Amino acid sequence: MTPRPLVVAVDGPGSSGKSTVGALAAERLGFRFCDTGLFYRAAAWLALHRHVPLDDGPALAALVPLLELESDRRGRYVRVRADGREVTALVHRPSIDRVVSEVARQPELRAALLSRQRVLARDGSIVVAGRDIGTVVLPDADVKIYLDASLAERARRRRLERGIRDDERDGTEARLVLDDLRKRDAIDSGREMAPLRIARDAIVIRTDGFELSEAVDAVVRAVLERTREPAPEAGTP
Ligand code: C5P
Repeated sequence: MTPRPLVVAVDGPGSSGKSTVGALAAERLGFRFCDTGLFYRAAAWLALHRHVPLDDGPALAALVPLLELESDRRGRYVRVRADGREVTALVHRPSIDRVVSEVARQPELRAALLSRQRVLARDGSIVVAGRDIGTVVLPDADVKIYLDASLAERARRRRLERGIRDDERDGTEARLVLDDLRKRDAIDSGREMAPLRIARDAIVIRTDGFELSEAVDAVVRAVLERTREPAPEAGTP
């Protein structure tokens, strides 16, 4: 009997490791992977590109049909196109970090992206990373994980990712990284529609002080524990 497809939701704040840890955990489990933040980042990029006001929800929603996530050979949706253009590297720039949460709080955009995300989660086991996956997008997910880390730790990781040193010379840039994360946390948690929340049935994994491999281990373990078939009782045929 082929096992039933499983859906794992991984939510958490910016730079909590959702994309990196989620993708590696998916690989270990033999699942597909989807980073839903790419949709919001690409929407923000296209809005800037086309001079769409970032608070014009209906106009932002009208951009959604132009966004396409692409999977690599291992079934990982980690690349994005906007209006036919490959924009994955562009959407990870600080200029997008600064505006993406403003765009993502618009209810019309979120509503338009709902079905796009749900369609991707069909057709086989998958790990889906985002902010509202376990609470709104896929509330029936088999396993819900909330990855968390302190603001200072998340800022440290983002600085590493971006090659920013935390010394006197780069102090301003380092401070900008921290300020941006703090601001995004506040907007993502404070918005009216689908705010960042820990789902009632989520497993919270705090990754302060964890090596990457330890965080991946913790996620894989949580998924296996939650989805293990109960052993048949002794004596049952
Ligand atoms: O995960 P990442 O940091 O790339 O997400 C960028 C932004 O997209 C988040 O700060 C949030 O505003 C928005 N987002 C969201 N819901 C999701 C994924 C991302 O609101 N499911």
